Amino acid sequence: MLELNILASGSSGNAAIVRDGGTGRCVLIDCGICKRDFFARCEELGVDPRAIEATLVTHVHSDHTSGLGVVMRGLAKEGCTPPLYAHPLVREASPKIREVEPLVEQRELHPGKPVHIAGMCVLPFATSHDVASSVGFRFEVEGDALGYATDTGFVTPEAHEALGDVRILAIESNHDVIMLREGPYPYVLQQRILSDEGHLSNAQCCTEVELLLHPGLEHVVAMHISEHNNTFGLPVRELQKVLDANNHPAQVHAGLPRTPVAVR
Ligand SMILES: [Zn+2]
Ligand SMILES: [Zn+2]
Repeated sequence: MLELNILASGSSGNAAIVRDGGTGRCVLIDCGICKRDFFARCEELGVDPRAIEATLVTHVHSDHTSGLGVVMRGLAKEGCTPPLYAHPLVREASPKIREVEPLVEQRELHPGKPVHIAGMCVLPFATSHDVASSVGFRFEVEGDALGYATDTGFVTPEAHEALGDVRILAIESNHDVIMLREGPYPYVLQQRILSDEGHLSNAQCCTEVELLLHPGLEHVVAMHISEHNNTFGLPVRELQKVLDANNHPAQVHAGLPRTPVAVR
């Protein structure tokens, strides 16, 4: 069965490891945290970072890429040099990805084109964000599936399709719209976050999760929760209400910025 090990989630940094619990083989999604946090949180989660067989990059923003250089150099010292998968336009835009070019093999990701990594089938799908070629992922192994979608202003039709029938659903629940409106961010930034190329609100997340409910769904994980325009409890309570209203037994979790979270 697949596991989602979240090392960090939110605008201060993102990194998650999808592990096949049966084989122990791992894939890293994004790396926007420092080397010390990366290795410490892997240890806390009981995940061997040397089992990482590939790194997938969702998009260029620094909260998803800032730690790539230091972490890849740290992994290389352990004898582990997983290839890095990114869309060509993301690579072009990212000095952090180019920094690791001499160290790890570079491979291309394209939305709608599945790749086979670490015994998993990984389908990248287009998200809607204010940068080139941002993506989310669906992971599949025999009899199990996991969906991962953050940094998107709305749920694209591709994302909606790819997130169907998963057992673990990790989806952005970035902000409460009223807290954002009344919060400390300047108006222009508020508009950016609320736009179709910004981030999913708690309400948007709940609407999507309700659409995606099916009997095989076991875990819903609220991701990329804002520390300024949300609380860590609010998305969990809102999602729980959706599940209760539908008599659905799935468990709700929150991805956190500084505490690792395992969803297994
Ligand atoms: Zn982000
Ligand atoms: Zn972003």
